[in-house]
Amino acid sequence: MTHWGRTVVTGGAGFLGGHLCERLLEQGAEVVCLDNFATGRPGNVEHLFGHPRFRLREADLVRPVEAEGPVDTVFHLASAASPPDYLRLPVETLEAGSLGTRNALALAEEGGARFVLASTSEVYGDPLEYPQRETYWGNVNPVGPRSVYDEAKRYAESLVMAHGRARGADVGIARIFNSYGPRMRADDGRLVPTFVNQALEGRPLTVAGDGQQTRSLCYVDDTVRGLMALGARRGVRGPVNIGSDEELSVISLVGLVASLTGTRSGVVFVERPEDDPRFRRPDIRLARELLGWEPRTRVREGMRRTIDHFVELRNRSGRAVAS
Ligand code: NAD
Repeated sequence: MTHWGRTVVTGGAGFLGGHLCERLLEQGAEVVCLDNFATGRPGNVEHLFGHPRFRLREADLVRPVEAEGPVDTVFHLASAASPPDYLRLPVETLEAGSLGTRNALALAEEGGARFVLASTSEVYGDPLEYPQRETYWGNVNPVGPRSVYDEAKRYAESLVMAHGRARGADVGIARIFNSYGPRMRADDGRLVPTFVNQALEGRPLTVAGDGQQTRSLCYVDDTVRGLMALGARRGVRGPVNIGSDEELSVISLVGLVASLTGTRSGVVFVERPEDDPRFRRPDIRLARELLGWEPRTRVREGMRRTIDHFVELRNRSGRAVAS
C-alpha cells in the first residue's frame, strides 16, 4: 500500500478531484484540496468536511500558493475541463494550464514531492492516428476555439517535462480520456450528464451531427485509480493514457440512456461543433504495462450508477421543494 503522506489536490472541488480526495483519504493520505470554484463547488467535497485529515482551501493557482507544510504528492487537476466551461473561460483556462501548472510545480518542487499532471486526450486534437498511442503528436488547430484548452494542456505537458528533465523534478503525466460518473454537473455540457438529464426531464436527447462519432467513456472510479497508480509510481513520467478502450458511438450511448431511464422522448440532431473530434479511443497498453492499470467498470454498469445518482439528486431537490 502506498504511503501518501500529505497530498495536495489542485482542482479538488471539481468532478474528478472530489472523487480523488475521497479515495486518497481512504488510503490514509492527509489531503489538502485547493480550488477557486471556477467550475467546481464545495458541495463536491462537503461529505469530507468533518474528516480529520481533510482540508479545503480556497486558492487560485494562477497566483503562487503557500504549501503551509511538507508535501509528498501533488495532483494538479485545476483547470476548466468541459467545452462550455473553457469556451466561457478562455483566458482563465490558458492561465490555469500555464501559470497554474507553474505554481503547482513549485508546490511540489520545494519539498521534492511527486507531481502528477491531469492532462487530456485533447492533446491529440482531431486525431489522424487511431487508436491514439502516447507516441502520437496530435492534430490541434492552434487558433481554433478549443485551442484554449488543448494548447494549455500541451504547454502544461511541455513545462512538466522540462521540470523533470532540467530540474530533476519527479513528474508524471496522465492523458485522461472522457470520464463520467456521479457528481458531474448536470449543466456541464458533457455528453453523459446532458443525455441523462434530458432523459430524466422527458426532453429529446440532442445529438451532434449524425451521432456516428465515437467516444470511449471511462467510469470515474477507474480514472481515479489510474491517476493514483501513476502518483504511486515515483520516477514514471509517461505520458500515460488513462481511459477506456470500450468505444461506442454517440447514437448507441443515446440508446443505452434511453433503455436505462425508460425515456420515450426521442432524439433531435443538431450541428456538430467546430473542431469536435470524430473518433476517440485510447491505446492503453502502456498503462497496463507501467502501472498494471486497466478500467474495470463496463459502460452499462457505470451508466446505471450515474443515472441512479442523478435520480437521487432530483428526488432530494423534489423533497426540498415539497418541504
Ligand atoms: P472540473 O471542472 O469539474 O474540475 C476542475 C476544478 O479545477 C474545478 O473545481 C475548478 O473550480 C478548479 N479550478 C479551475 N481553475 C482553477 C484555478 N485557477 N485555481 C484553482 N482551481 C481551479 O473538471 P474535471 O472533469 O474534474 O477535470 C479535472 C481535471 O482533469 C482537469 O484538469 C481536466 O483537464 C482533466 N481531465 C478531465 C477529463 C474528464 O473527462 N473529466 C478528461 C481529461 C482531462
